[in-house]
Amino acid sequence: MGQLTLSEYRQLSVADIRDGIAARQFLAADVVEAALTAVEALDCQVHSFLEVTGEAARQAAAHIDQALAAETAAQPAGLGTLAGVPIAFKDNMNLEGSHTTCASRILENYHSLYTATCVARSLEAGGLSLGKLNMDEFAFGSSTETSAFGCTFNPWDLERVPGGSSGGPAAAVAAGIVTVSLGSDTGGSIRQPASFCGVVGFKPTYGLVSRYGVVAFGSSLDQVGPLGRSVADVAAVMDAIGGRDPLDCTSQHLDVKFVAKELLEAGVQGMRIGYVPDFLELDGLTGEVKRACEAAMANLEALGAQLVPVELPNAKAALAAYYVIGPCEAFSNLSRFDSVRYGYCAEAAANLGQQYEQSRAQGFGPEVIRRVMLGSYLLSAGVYDTYYYPAQQVRTLITADYARAFECCEALITPTSPRTAFRFGEIADPTSMYLSDIFTLPINIAGNGGLSLPVGMGDETGLPVGVQIIGPQFKDDQIFRVAAALEAVYAGQGSVSLAPLESILAKTGGDVQ
Ligand code: GLN
Repeated sequence: MGQLTLSEYRQLSVADIRDGIAARQFLAADVVEAALTAVEALDCQVHSFLEVTGEAARQAAAHIDQALAAETAAQPAGLGTLAGVPIAFKDNMNLEGSHTTCASRILENYHSLYTATCVARSLEAGGLSLGKLNMDEFAFGSSTETSAFGCTFNPWDLERVPGGSSGGPAAAVAAGIVTVSLGSDTGGSIRQPASFCGVVGFKPTYGLVSRYGVVAFGSSLDQVGPLGRSVADVAAVMDAIGGRDPLDCTSQHLDVKFVAKELLEAGVQGMRIGYVPDFLELDGLTGEVKRACEAAMANLEALGAQLVPVELPNAKAALAAYYVIGPCEAFSNLSRFDSVRYGYCAEAAANLGQQYEQSRAQGFGPEVIRRVMLGSYLLSAGVYDTYYYPAQQVRTLITADYARAFECCEALITPTSPRTAFRFGEIADPTSMYLSDIFTLPINIAGNGGLSLPVGMGDETGLPVGVQIIGPQFKDDQIFRVAAALEAVYAGQGSVSLAPLESILAKTGGDVQ
């Protein structure tokens, strides 16, 4: 048994950790100390954490180590799926005793009074909670630049954004600070940062993971999902967090095990995988992303899959529908942050009206105010029929498009994002930023699951590129089957999800104990 060096720790998968602890190669306490060393050595540059819950992680690790020490043949320790695995949570997920700020001034001093189901299940499965991760304020954004508590930096190039809104969860995993993390995805917020940071990110079919205890953005669009450095790691987290929760009436039973060998080693021989020719001709899709996506398609074909062109004729209206439905739901959800029930309260207001106005003006950032005002306008009498109602009709059409497409294929492949990670400040106007999610948000509208898989580096920027694998609703196992087969091809080419961070590690000697 020995301590883990930082470089050893950063390489470990979920199974390595669980098996290593079970085989007494190292203690859960060793893992947690290595993880806290990683936070200290790396996060000063990456800035993925808003709060570190080191003591809670140490206690959880001690619990695992004690159970193993007391283990007898008659009474096995019963290690959970995520035993000893360092995990951290986007800061819109409640964890009792921690802050939950949504990266907003308005919730700066809010302490969670209870724990979200997805967080609780991660911890019940043996995960060690390292803390809470940075994000775009209230999950509005694609770069994590709108956080009220500073930007997160992309571990592959610290001058670039990690994507968003789950920028912290993606960067913490890519940097090797935590093994896995949880993010939320309303229009692409798990998948786009996963593609920018070269990690795997999965948005399950709407309803597969409970939303209880996750601060709502768009309740009909939001889904929680895992990020990790491999498909198997993400599958293990899904096995821990997925399934029906009586506290979220939209959650569904989950009767599949994602880590199953039959699934992850099944291959794609004979599978029909659809692609959307129109998507590959879209304005704004960069040449390198297009080429990487086409190479991934060719790889699937070489593995024995049959590629079939499919049409999603209404997908072009998805962005417009999303920016009606999303802000309307956000307007309604964010009305609770009124400085009375929750949140920052401006001092020196002369009356209640002024207190609302000033608290919100000072507590919310510009993107939040933009969305709330947009939602308030769109839902007002007279305007509602012109925008909200047609947007819901478009939603029905898009949902039907996907259902039709899946009549002739078992999975779809698209680029995740039109481009690789951009520089801070490079995309200043909101509309251009909104286009970041052109390939991801249609399935939030339709409800289907989608996973972003890293497929190497762009041949122009040298930065990670992701492709998105989409499945029919509630057949997310098919996504994992395709993703695992494709991942094996890139693993064979030496493609990795761990950012080297050489410049930072050099300062620590690379091997901090
Ligand atoms: N970037 C999109 C938006 O700003 C999606 C955000 C998300 O998925 N939370 O709305």
